[in-house]
Amino acid sequence: MGKKIEFIRQKSESYILDPRKNFEKTGCPIEIRIDPLTGKTGRLCHFGGITPQKLNFDLYTNPETRGFCPFCPETRDKFTPKFPPEILPEGRMTKGEAYLFSNLYPYDLFSSVVVMTDAHLVKVNEFTEKQILDTLSLGIEFLKIIQKKHPEIPYYLMGWNYMPPSGSSIVHPHQQFLASKTPGNQYMDELRASEAYYKENNSNFWVDLIEEEKKLGERYIAELGSGFWLSSFVSSGTLGEIIAILPEVYTLEDLNEKHLEDLTKGIMKVLAFYGDHQMYSFNGSLFLGPKGQNYFSAHFRMVARTYLNSLNYPADFFFVQVLFKDPVCAIYPEELAQKLKPYF
Ligand SMILES: [Zn+2]
Repeated sequence: MGKKIEFIRQKSESYILDPRKNFEKTGCPIEIRIDPLTGKTGRLCHFGGITPQKLNFDLYTNPETRGFCPFCPETRDKFTPKFPPEILPEGRMTKGEAYLFSNLYPYDLFSSVVVMTDAHLVKVNEFTEKQILDTLSLGIEFLKIIQKKHPEIPYYLMGWNYMPPSGSSIVHPHQQFLASKTPGNQYMDELRASEAYYKENNSNFWVDLIEEEKKLGERYIAELGSGFWLSSFVSSGTLGEIIAILPEVYTLEDLNEKHLEDLTKGIMKVLAFYGDHQMYSFNGSLFLGPKGQNYFSAHFRMVARTYLNSLNYPADFFFVQVLFKDPVCAIYPEELAQKLKPYF
């Protein structure tokens, strides 16, 4: 049998006469990588040009600048929507500090928000394990209720915007849990490619990926209970991407409390790393596969986000990602993995 998983890297250099070196001819490395599952390209470049920027937390707490927050305990009963009684008789759900309700502006057929904490501002490394576990556990419980009532809906996802650089309009920590018939291009591309891989190789890409990455050791971070943590070969974000694969979990029904505990432990470690490296914002997502397959393992991604500077707050997504649809990463995934390992 031929090589099943390939990590293809095309390295080149762009030459400049560098004003910082008296206009000496200097090569700037550029690397194009091909995602081993989807075949899509990603770009490694701009090294040293993007560094995590500090956030001005005073803005988020000062009464004059913090603005109205519908997620704070004293306002949320009045300002957050309820689900109709045929979905949730009580309208909302709670577990510990976690508080679930319908998004006021739904993204999909069933679009829930879970406020994670009573506190309005929680810095990246100040979450407790219980806050994260209760949030995940409540969101998954909600999705399981939806699945029972609407078994025709095949796809289940979680999304997490944390802090404004990630696109979060509300600072108060929250996650979103969606049930969908159209889970988005990334999900569907991965699902189709995983099926094609399975048919061709008679094995699960995600299991093979873990094995291959473990063997290479460059991007492998750790095994934590039922989860395997890696730095992604192609990153969706400028500061790298971390992925946790739960190889034995294919669908929402497979996912139990132990899996969520394992996932939470890993998230806590990544957040500790982020806190130590001034990475104050990120996007996260959990993909759960449809029923009746054994080739699309559940996986969770975290992508750190930052403003490019603190002068006029430019986003770290620009024409390359938005219109060329090519992710840009300014750090080597292999270096990210080595930095993260001591935290696991
Ligand atoms: Zn709040």
